[in-house]
Amino acid sequence: MNDKNPLSQCAYCDGSTCYPDAGINDPLPPIEKAPSTCPMQNYEEIIREGATHYYKHNIKEFARQASIQEAQCYEIDEEGLKTRIPRIEEVIQFAGKCGYQTLGLAFCIGLRREARKLSKIFESKGFNMASVCCKVGRSPKESLGLTGGEKIRGPEAMESMCNPIVQARLLNHQNVDLAILLGLCVGHDTLFFKYCNAPCTVLAVKDRVLGHNPLAALYLSDTPYYNRLKRTDQRVHPEGGWKKVDITAEE
Ligand code: SF4
Repeated sequence: MNDKNPLSQCAYCDGSTCYPDAGINDPLPPIEKAPSTCPMQNYEEIIREGATHYYKHNIKEFARQASIQEAQCYEIDEEGLKTRIPRIEEVIQFAGKCGYQTLGLAFCIGLRREARKLSKIFESKGFNMASVCCKVGRSPKESLGLTGGEKIRGPEAMESMCNPIVQARLLNHQNVDLAILLGLCVGHDTLFFKYCNAPCTVLAVKDRVLGHNPLAALYLSDTPYYNRLKRTDQRVHPEGGWKKVDITAEE
């Protein structure tokens, strides 16, 4: 942090000051009603400056279409607010609204069947699809400095490294209008975002244990199955897994 203001902590707020249940002409709640860690109280200048970016020509239209798409994912009937479409349709409809023609699919080899199905679905809606698997380039993990013991299948196996930089650069080269991520690993997705010049969206993140639904562990974190997530006496072990710490010594 480079100033004396507290870290923003929207996660501990109910959001009723920035997202009030109000009509368009109703007075808004005063910002002072928000918690002292509210960014609207502490970072006014950044909020004001950030908002100006929406008025850049290409950004404004992109943001406008994204918000229209958001609204079209709901409907209100006599029973109240309901959701309408799954994320696959949301991505298809958003890409269509933006006038995109060529989409890039950056996928994990573990989800190659899903990638094929997805490409066919997008093509059936009229898009051109470029797809690139994470193992493209087949560079051995040793080229990153990994030792045999740090590979999945051990020293004797030829394991191609995940290659998100080349995935991104190939999609850049093919001038895709939108890159869609499917199941890239943590960290590999980070590099992809860093190197991809096209706008990016994520269709699905990888969760090897929970059917690519990482929030399942969160929803079960109050149960014995995953309450280890909330233990305060564990820290990341540098060689993998957890190490127990004496939290009284840290205080
Ligand atoms: S912006 Fe302020 S009011 Fe909105 S959720 Fe964050 S802390 Fe709460």
